[in-house]
Amino acid sequence: MALRLNRRVAAIKPSATMAAEARAIELRLQGVDIISLAAGEPDFDTPERIKNAARRALEAGMTKYTPTSGTRQIKEAIQSKLKSENNLEYDLTEIVASAGGKQAAANVIGTLFDEGDEVIIPTPAWVSYSAMVALSGATPKLAATREEDGFLLSAEGLRRALTPKTRGIIINSPSNPTGAVYDADQLRALSEVVLEAGLWLISDDVYEHMVYDGVAPHPIAANPRLKEQGIIVNSLSKTYAMTGWRIGFAAGPRELMNAMARLQGQNSGNPSSISQAAAVEALTGPKDELVTMMEEFRARRSFVVERVRSLPGFALAQMPKGSFYVFPKVSALFGLKWKGGVLQSGDDVADLLLSEARVALVGGIDFGFPEYVRISYANSMANLKAAFDRIESALRALGAR
Ligand code: GLU
Repeated sequence: MALRLNRRVAAIKPSATMAAEARAIELRLQGVDIISLAAGEPDFDTPERIKNAARRALEAGMTKYTPTSGTRQIKEAIQSKLKSENNLEYDLTEIVASAGGKQAAANVIGTLFDEGDEVIIPTPAWVSYSAMVALSGATPKLAATREEDGFLLSAEGLRRALTPKTRGIIINSPSNPTGAVYDADQLRALSEVVLEAGLWLISDDVYEHMVYDGVAPHPIAANPRLKEQGIIVNSLSKTYAMTGWRIGFAAGPRELMNAMARLQGQNSGNPSSISQAAAVEALTGPKDELVTMMEEFRARRSFVVERVRSLPGFALAQMPKGSFYVFPKVSALFGLKWKGGVLQSGDDVADLLLSEARVALVGGIDFGFPEYVRISYANSMANLKAAFDRIESALRALGAR
């Protein structure tokens, strides 16, 4: 029988980050020694105190459904996290726990937007926002930033992207893939335009703790008037090295959160009961492991930036201020030939390096910047060293200068 897919699903591409990681895993299964700098996934193990909380939950028989939007305990833990870390007050009815930040973001976007709406996504941006917006029926409106501006959208840039159809904007600070971080003045300037234009502001805070100089001011806390039209999306994946546990959450106006919970109740249900119990420990327990993890990330960032800058054909203008990615420009390599063809995009460079250096990266096309590649340094120092040695040899063998 001819397969006729839902037209929105038919139109979406595979997630470029997940696809790059999947290729690395596949090659590894075939016995190829691949170093992956593709997925944004901390290489650290989940802290023992969090695993123990999950073990206790299992022993106590917490293996049943929970309320769709999360247990009272996880909502209270999220509530106090939002107060103490972000200085934002939410009622428990304004919080929904989800199976990962990705599900939280997709459900918020799917609940809020509709056909005929436009949602502004400052680019470079995480590959999945556009797909989520398109799946909701709305149109992603990519607002390209400039490297000279630190990949940050200015209030004027936002104004230029507005049309009568604009209904929302997604801000991700610190950013995946650039590591850019907005300061409080920039956020206040943006917030004035958001308020004036009556937009929803979705703040994806997944990398909030991965900041190397000071703190990342919160886009919603930057202007108290924004709370009515702001929605937080966050995840425990990066902060607590819990990618596989699938725990994230959203916080925002009650009516919207109720609608989002209805959607979640129909399409998936509650996030894992065991993961929720672990998340309560993650959010309420001591944060020592985060300090250790950040020390390691800081050392890796310096190392990676230096190595990237010395690679032939790679250019990185600014030191990333947050997250655990660098996003160098590789267009100086375009035109070079290798057995896979002529290099014409960051994705071609990623293909070349996967084949010739056995290092997995993600090409820039799906981040909205085809001349770039994304490198994740959520990998051990030993692997990073080996990866950059291999990349450098592969590029030199190709004649790159
Ligand atoms: N967000 C991470 C990344 O960009 C994990 C993979 C994904 O969800 O896209 O690599």
